[in-house]
Formats: sequence, structure tokens, C-alpha cells
Amino acid sequence: MTLERELECALASVAAAASLCENVRRELVPDAITKEDRSPVTVADFGAQAIVCRFLSAMFPEDPVVGEEDSAALRAEGGARALAQVVEYAGRCICWKGTGGRCGCAGGPAPEDRRAVNAEDVTTWIDHGNGEVGSRYWTLDPIDGTKGFLRGDQYAVALALVVDGDVKVGVLGCPYLPREAGNADGARGVLFGAVRGEGAFVIDWDGPASAAGERTPIRVSEGGKADGFRMVESVEAAHGDHSLQATIAREAGITRDPVRMDSQAKYAAVARGEAALYLRLPSKRTPDYRENIWDHAAGAIVVEEAGGSVTDLFGKPLDFAIGKKMVDNRGVVVSNGPIHEVVLRELAAAVGK
Ligand code: AMP
Ligand code: MG
Repeated sequence: MTLERELECALASVAAAASLCENVRRELVPDAITKEDRSPVTVADFGAQAIVCRFLSAMFPEDPVVGEEDSAALRAEGGARALAQVVEYAGRCICWKGTGGRCGCAGGPAPEDRRAVNAEDVTTWIDHGNGEVGSRYWTLDPIDGTKGFLRGDQYAVALALVVDGDVKVGVLGCPYLPREAGNADGARGVLFGAVRGEGAFVIDWDGPASAAGERTPIRVSEGGKADGFRMVESVEAAHGDHSLQATIAREAGITRDPVRMDSQAKYAAVARGEAALYLRLPSKRTPDYRENIWDHAAGAIVVEEAGGSVTDLFGKPLDFAIGKKMVDNRGVVVSNGPIHEVVLRELAAAVGK
């Protein structure tokens, strides 16, 4: 089975959705930060889901999409303003050329190829993303790392195709991630992709047309103590256990301070060798929390195809076959491979089996 069509569709839809997010961030977020208004997140979340689902419903109409959002809040009283904004922003990123709105091309729309999008269009597309986990499905986090998005930090558009519980295709759009690891002064915007058995790659992202850009293979860092021998973890303390994560990293020989990043950009950091370890251990404040499939599926295949390893804290593979929540997994351990075993051993000693 070749998955090139799926990969192309995933790249095109994520590249377009990332454009919508950046437009919202440039135009609405500064205002929101001063007003503490979360509506830009809403507009970008819904808009990105609308765009990705519009591509998927046109190209793979039979495939369910398990997305994080649904349109109820937009249809409800008080949702009209946000809905109008979603319509406006989605309209800018959608190309209607050629196939009556079912084109799914990788290019950004030329002005003559834009068409008025209406509220019915976008709510229908968003709700296309309310599918269920099955033998073949897509899972989408339209904006992973919403707190980073609002803060002017990292976030990701994350899309994956899962077949029989195995992630087959994953794409991560990271419009704000420096192209050169750690170089905050250089150009930003990268798109990561992976197909099972075919490796992982990165493309420079600067708009919808970037999906067709040059694919450069990526690899995790080697085992040693070179540049990439550091840990990444969430910015949000509530999304992990910073203290235990620091202990485990130290036991695994990592002496540098952790790098904190929002979203699945952390998976990208491991995949491209910028970090050797990403730990996400259950927060003591939310011991019963279970991870969502859309927060991990795309990142996991990008790391695995770049040569790394992904398990839960007990060494179990992440289970994408059960439902939206990975109820049989606890925490997530992502590594370059060579240090995985020692990390799991230290974890077993620290938290018990
Ligand atoms: P990050 O940007 O890595 O901090 O992760 C953002 C994701 O954390 C969101 O998409 C949420 O689904 C997820 N999340 C929310 N609450 C928790 C929690 N208590 N523990 C772990 N992850 C969480
Ligand atoms: Mg998320």
C-alpha cells in the first residue's frame, strides 16, 4: 500500500491550516494578550480544523477524522462573532480552483481562486472531524499547545493517519519553530512529515505552497554527549512532573538544563536531534489524566521514523486503537533510542511497576 496521496493531502492541509493560525496570531493575538481574551485560540482552533477536514473530506471521504473540536460553541448563542471570524480566516486559506471546491491542491489560493466561504461550509467541515476511532482513521489537533500559541511561543498543527492501531502517516506543522535548532534570530517555520517505513523529513514552511517544498531527511541525535544531549519538556508544569523529569534526566546522564517548549514541537526537537529525550510524566495534581491520541500520534511517528523510540513510562507502546484517550498508557517517554532503556529503568525504580 502506498501512502503518498495521504502524505500529500496531510502536508497540503496542515500547511494551509498553519497559514490560518499564523494569520490569526499576527492579527488577533496581541490584542488578546492584553485583554486576556481566548477568542483567537477559538478562531484558530476551529479554522484550522475546518481547513484540514475540508481537505480530508474531499480526498478521503470514507475516512473518519477524530479531531479535538466540534462546532457546537460556534453555533451556540454568543458564538456568532467567532463564527464570522472563522469564516473570514478560512476563506483566505482555501483554494477552489478546478474541482468545485474539492481540489485539495498544495498551492495557496490566488485571489481569483478564492470563493466566499459561508458559515454552513465551515461548521460542516469542523464537524467532519467528530468521527470515531476505527480500523482506519485520521486524528487531528488543530492547534496543539494553545497556551504557547497565545503566549507567542511554540504550537503545532498535528495530523496523523492510523491504520489497525499503527500510525502510518504523520505531519506536524510548526510555523514558529526556528528552522535552525535553537536559532531564535533566524527564519522560522517548519513542516515535519513521516510515513511508516519510509523515514522522516522536514520542509521549510512559509505558507500553503510549502507543502510541495523540498523534503530533507532528519535523524535523531547519536548517543553521545554532543549538542543534542538534553531534555525537552512542557512549559506548563501542570502537564507533567518537572521535578521527577529532572531527576530521571540526570540519572540518564543529561546534565544540561531542560528546554521547555509547548506542543508536539517537542517531538520534532527529538526527531531532528535537538534533544535526546522528551519526558511527559503524570502530574501529581492530575494522577488520573490520560493522554489524547491527537496530542501524540503525529509526533510519535515523526520520532520513530527519524530513528527514535516512543513508549509510555512503563515501556508500553502507545495504544492508538482504543479510543480518543490512551486509557492503557501512563505518561510518555520519547528518546533518541540509545538512552531509552536506561530512562525506563530509572523510571521503574522511581515510580515502581
Ligand atoms: P504541552 O504543550 O506539551 O504542554 O501539551 C498541551 C496538551 O496538554 C494539550 O493539548 C492538552 O490536551 C494536554 N493536557 C491537558 N491537561 C493535561 C495534564 N493534566 N497532563 C498532561 N497533559 C495535559
Ligand atoms: Mg493538544
